[in-house]
Amino acid sequence: MIVVMKPGATQKQIDHIVELVEQLGLRSHVIVGTERTVVAALGEKRDGAKQALELGEGVEKVVPILAPYKMASTEVKKDRTVVSARKLTIGGRAVGVIAGPCSVESRSQILEIAHFVREAGASGLRGGAFKPRTSPYSFQGLKEKGLELLAEARAETGLAVVTEVMSPEQVPLVSRYADVLQVGARNMQNYPLLEAVGEAGLPVLLKRGPSATIDEFLLAAEYILKAGNTQVMLCERGIRTFEDHTRFTLPLATVPYLHAHTHLPVVVDPSHGTGKAALVSAMARAAVAAGADGLMIEVHPDPEKALSDGYQALTEPAFKELMASCRRVAAAVDRSL
Ligand code: PEP
Ligand code: MN
Repeated sequence: MIVVMKPGATQKQIDHIVELVEQLGLRSHVIVGTERTVVAALGEKRDGAKQALELGEGVEKVVPILAPYKMASTEVKKDRTVVSARKLTIGGRAVGVIAGPCSVESRSQILEIAHFVREAGASGLRGGAFKPRTSPYSFQGLKEKGLELLAEARAETGLAVVTEVMSPEQVPLVSRYADVLQVGARNMQNYPLLEAVGEAGLPVLLKRGPSATIDEFLLAAEYILKAGNTQVMLCERGIRTFEDHTRFTLPLATVPYLHAHTHLPVVVDPSHGTGKAALVSAMARAAVAAGADGLMIEVHPDPEKALSDGYQALTEPAFKELMASCRRVAAAVDRSL
C-alpha cells in the first residue's frame, strides 16, 4: 500500500505513519517527492491495516500498489532515479555511455581502450575480470589482476569502472575496485547475489536474463532495492527467441515500457543484443531514439584477437562513428550524449 501524505504534512505526522506501518507488521519506505511525501507500506497486507492508516493525521489517501514489484514501481516513486558514479550519470538528460572490452586481457589493452573511449565521449569503462562463460574451457577472466588493471585505467582516465560480480562471496573483493557492480544476465535471478549487491553500497547495473519476462526483471531489481540500495540501473541486453541470425533478439520496446512502469534508468547493450559488430551501431541509435538513458558497448583494439566476444566488438574507429551518429539521434530526441 502507499500512504499518500497531504501536501505540507509535518515530519511528526510522517514519523507517526512510519511507526504505525511498522506496528502493523509492514516495512516502511519513505519517499520525499517534489510535491508531497509518500510512505510505502510493504509486505503481506493485514485486515484493517488500510483503515488504520487512513485515520492517521496528515494522510490524504491510502492506495494499493498494483504492480508485483513495489519499490521499483512508478506507483511508489514518480520522480526518475538518477544513478551516478564518478563521471558517469545515467537517468538524466544526457545519455551515459559505458564502453570497453568484453574482458580485461592485458594492461596495454585496457589502458589503450580506456583512453580511447574517454576521448570519444564515454564516461564509464566496462571490462570483465570475472567472466561468466558458457564453456568452462573458455577464457575465464584475469580475476583480481583484471580488477587491478581496471583501477589503474580509472586512475589514468577518471572513467567509472563497471565490472561484473558473479557470486555473493566475490562482492567484497569486486567492491574494492569497482564503481558500479554489474550483475550479468545469467545471474539475474541469483537471489543471494542480488541481496549482496543490495547491501554493498555501490550502484548496480542489472542485466536482463535472456529468458526473463519484464516482471521477473523488475522483481530482481526489487531485491536490490529492498536490501537498501536505490542506485539501480536496468540493462536490456537481448532475449532468447527462435531467431538465430542474431545472437539474441534485442527488444527495444522494453525501453518505453520500463519508463512507464519504473523510475529506474534503462541502459541498452546492443553488443550482446545482436552479437554482430556490423549491427551494433544501428541498434545503438535505435536505443537512443527509443529513449534509452545509457548505452553499454563492447570495443576492442583488435577484435579478431579478442579472448571473448570479438565478433561483436567494435574497432576504435567504428566506436567513434557510433558516438557521432548517436549524438545526432540524441539531439533529435532532446537528449545529449
Ligand atoms: C558482459 O557484459 O560481458 C556479459 C557477460 O553480458 P551478459 O551478462 O549480458 O551476457
Ligand atoms: Mn561480452
